[in-house]
Amino acid sequence: MKRRNFLKNASLTGVGLAVGNTLVNCTEKTSEEKKAATTRAKTALPLVIATWKAKNATAKAWDVLQAGGNALDAVEQGCMIEEANEKGQSVGKGGLPDRDGNVTLDACVMNKEGNCGSVVYLQNITHAISVARKVMEDTPHVMLAGKGAEQFAVSIGLKQENLLTEASKKAWEQWKIKSEYKPIINIENHDTIGMLAIDKNGDLSGGCTTSGLAYKMAGRVGDSPIIGSGLFVDNEIGAAVATGLGEEVVKTVGSFLIVELMRQGKSPQEACEEAINRIVSKPNSNYKNFQVGYIAVNKQGETGYYSIHKGFSMTRFQEEQNENIQSDYYNKDN
Ligand code: ASP
Repeated sequence: MKRRNFLKNASLTGVGLAVGNTLVNCTEKTSEEKKAATTRAKTALPLVIATWKAKNATAKAWDVLQAGGNALDAVEQGCMIEEANEKGQSVGKGGLPDRDGNVTLDACVMNKEGNCGSVVYLQNITHAISVARKVMEDTPHVMLAGKGAEQFAVSIGLKQENLLTEASKKAWEQWKIKSEYKPIINIENHDTIGMLAIDKNGDLSGGCTTSGLAYKMAGRVGDSPIIGSGLFVDNEIGAAVATGLGEEVVKTVGSFLIVELMRQGKSPQEACEEAINRIVSKPNSNYKNFQVGYIAVNKQGETGYYSIHKGFSMTRFQEEQNENIQSDYYNKDN
């Protein structure tokens, strides 16, 4: 998932959109215009949205939804596309390792019943999202970690393999020369796929899968497997998923916050903006040095997406159209 040159490909349906080569500043729009630009017809179901540029993943999910599959199947199969893509260096096989050279995965799913499953610090298994789903469906637990999660994955028939590709190993060896840890604003280190879908029955599910921050401390776990932070789904209201510096998402329980704001009447766009505001308006927030992005959908199929810095985008497949759209962002200085 390369997000470079995103402006070139950005469609006119997004906010912060490219017109020719000119960025239109959304603050110049009325809130009504802005809302119209960021949402679609309420009845246009099914639909799937994902963080970043993830057209292959949304296309897979769309196929599942069009065939009458449920939202959970769509999200799992969509996320699996990125987990198997060795070129994507923040998800599944080919993910960048921690500072000790170990690739460790975090993932979670949540379904229309409000059930959830999650894996943290999973090693040697490509499809963390499938393990998370099975934790939800086949165990009395919500979360499995480390060796136990790996053993469980093997017990359900998943194959153990080395997730550190030559390219990621090379990048890590290069990083070790200076060993500077900069999580931070470099969006190339953030490529987590978070996906939300509504199926033909109007039911919602979501999933999130990542190798976490590149060169993180051994044992570090981010927001992505934490229900309420990296992902939250309420089939009555809507769903949200996060990407970016997980520590900041956890501190504000971002995805749960967005769903609760939608429950109170905010649109998905307004809710995503408020969740970013909670992060940047904290006393002494050093938001200029890190990125967080959210996407959200409500029960009616309206979508929203917002980030601290430019560079974040959402992919949406709805009404036969698979598009990658640049998000509007808080920090207009960059
Ligand atoms: N949110 C993920 C984490 O903190 C990283 C990402 O979005 O790429 O682990």
